[in-house]
Amino acid sequence: MRCGKMAAPAAGTRGGVRRRCQRLLYWVPVLFISSILCWSYYAYVTQLCLLSMANIGEKVVCLIAYHLFFMLFVWSYWKTIFTLPMNPSKEFHLSYADKELLEREPRGETQQEIFRRAAKDLPIYTRTMSGAIRYCDRCQLVKPDRCHHCSVCDKCILKMDHHCPWVNNCVGFSNYKFFLLFLAYSLLYCLFIAATDLQYFIKFWTNGLPDTQAKFHIMFLFFAAAMFSVSLSSLFGYHCWLVSKNKSTLEAFRAPIFRHGTDKNGFSLGFSKNLRQVFGDEKKYWLLPVFTSLGDGCSFPTCLVNQDPEQVSTPVGLNSTTKNENHLFPPKTLRDSQSHLLTDTQSWTESSANTEKGKVVPKGMSNPGLTVENET
Ligand SMILES: [Zn+2]
Ligand SMILES: [Zn+2]
Repeated sequence: MRCGKMAAPAAGTRGGVRRRCQRLLYWVPVLFISSILCWSYYAYVTQLCLLSMANIGEKVVCLIAYHLFFMLFVWSYWKTIFTLPMNPSKEFHLSYADKELLEREPRGETQQEIFRRAAKDLPIYTRTMSGAIRYCDRCQLVKPDRCHHCSVCDKCILKMDHHCPWVNNCVGFSNYKFFLLFLAYSLLYCLFIAATDLQYFIKFWTNGLPDTQAKFHIMFLFFAAAMFSVSLSSLFGYHCWLVSKNKSTLEAFRAPIFRHGTDKNGFSLGFSKNLRQVFGDEKKYWLLPVFTSLGDGCSFPTCLVNQDPEQVSTPVGLNSTTKNENHLFPPKTLRDSQSHLLTDTQSWTESSANTEKGKVVPKGMSNPGLTVENET
């Protein structure tokens, strides 16, 4: 006993030190990118533009354009790294009483009953492979649609795309737009450097450059820019495809499961609306790394509501007058969906009671995805 008591704090300290070292190591890829960025700035501005370019007009145009790309690249990279990922709101967490009950009850149907009760007023459409409510043991919460637990961050992340080591952050609902812009601007940055450096790179091989240290910076600058351009263009192209289909990287590998089954395009609303889900309604902000994504990250419009008679809510962003004949809730506009999800649910329930006097929507049935949960 005594040995055990003595060993526990030492093991805890060792574990703490190891975790701190691990956290520091996570910053190595970010330091690597930042170092290359600093060197590329020095190589391009001083060695290529100021020392190697003879034409003053070319020098000025290159310097202005370079600084524009550089600024947008650094801005979007900074925002991707330092924007905290969003976690599910407190409505998704189990109550203290439910947590206690969960600890007492054995796993199985009783546990599912607790989850169903906890989720009855939440806008959840997706399920596990077995059709059960998605629940995170670690965070003790009912997972919102498209939310996943990140093992690196040790948190549930809203609309999690992936954990990116190059930004040492989770890419999800809060920073996905920044991540896309980071890919776009880093690609443009590399392409611009490669294009303007090409003629000097050729001169390097034909002995057209003076024999100074600048020639080696010019050569490596071209190699690095070309190499990063190739890898970034494939990654950026892949994410453009994901945005057009309204999928996350995780969903591209494992399609979301709805009540009626798996559907890989379950959240797709059409190209234009998919684009607006990430970039927002105001086009003037599309190219700037400022947050303009639609929604709250906890609930997402899905066209599948129309195909599932049990999910009677009007899908946000779709023309409900032509597609949804049997909804209990009044049609809502895309902008309405940006308000808080629980406020929405309440307002749906209230207004539907006003508009459809013959029908009574009982409490706990306001979430269409859970109507059958109450019946079974
Ligand atoms: Zn979690
Ligand atoms: Zn993460």
